Amino acid sequence: MLDDLLRIEREFNQALDEAGSDPDAVEAIRVRYLGRKAELTGLMKKLGTLSKEERPAAGKAINILKQKVAASLQNAADQAGNARRTARLAQERLDVTLPPRMPWTGTVHPTTHARRELESIFRGLGYTVESGPEVEDDFYNFQALNMPPEHPARDGADTFYLDGGLLLRTHTSPVQIRTMQNRKPPLKMICPGRVYRRDWDATHLPMFHQIEALVVDEGITMGDLKGTMDVVWKRYFGGRVRTRLRPAYFPFVEPGCEYDISCQVCAGDGCRICKQSGWIELGGAGMVHPAVFEAAGVDPELYTGFAFGLGIDRIAMMKYGIDDLRLLMENDTRFLRQFPL
Ligand SMILES: [Zn+2]
Repeated sequence: MLDDLLRIEREFNQALDEAGSDPDAVEAIRVRYLGRKAELTGLMKKLGTLSKEERPAAGKAINILKQKVAASLQNAADQAGNARRTARLAQERLDVTLPPRMPWTGTVHPTTHARRELESIFRGLGYTVESGPEVEDDFYNFQALNMPPEHPARDGADTFYLDGGLLLRTHTSPVQIRTMQNRKPPLKMICPGRVYRRDWDATHLPMFHQIEALVVDEGITMGDLKGTMDVVWKRYFGGRVRTRLRPAYFPFVEPGCEYDISCQVCAGDGCRICKQSGWIELGGAGMVHPAVFEAAGVDPELYTGFAFGLGIDRIAMMKYGIDDLRLLMENDTRFLRQFPL
């Protein structure tokens, strides 16, 4: 019988090794070695056939083995349970350090953002914000701005003409005329809005956004113009920008100039946008031409005024380092979602 017990123990240990941490296999081994039909149970029943002297030692040996088997099985069952729990926890694991999925919200278009910033700067300087129609007539877009019929500055190639003598305004200047017609000086106003020209390349769009500023009062000079520009650019770009004026002809100003600011994309070193010059032409400026005052009903003997205009899209490009104006028109959300920076 002792030989039987040693063999059973050996077989049991081997079976348990093979079962590993598989809970079903461990349970099968428990049934096989401790169940009603187990070999050990059979041996217990055979005790009666042994002699009186052999019986106690054999019974004790069987019980010891049963206890060993039971303890090993318990141990194996615990390990199997642990393994199963560990596997489940690994499967259900949450990494709380992962970045959350943010809800996709809309953003303000960079041009709109630039317009709002500029409006805020001008309002802070006491300017009113005016608006007017995008479909204009010849008087407001040309004649009142000292461009009579046949004037070369009216070059038809740049203008979108509509039926009935109407056109898409080529600048926001008509709003200046309408405002001067309706309000007496002193006047400090800006007119932001869409304007239309037949252009399409990296720095020109057929529709773009302009802001013009107009100041009319007694004793206004070019010095006021330059000083105002310096304040506006410094507030908009944060003090890192230079302005320069170059004499130029525009029918609606006298004297007139074009003005540049130092390129904010390359910090003046030269790049594609500034055509390697370090300067970006922002627009035209000058002292309001007396003929314009007359057309708008303002006395040119009593008042003087300055005006300047700029492209909002272009100034947004400068601020955000965008090197192709067309990006602003293509509605690519991968681009637009980055704004405002
Ligand atoms: Zn540049």
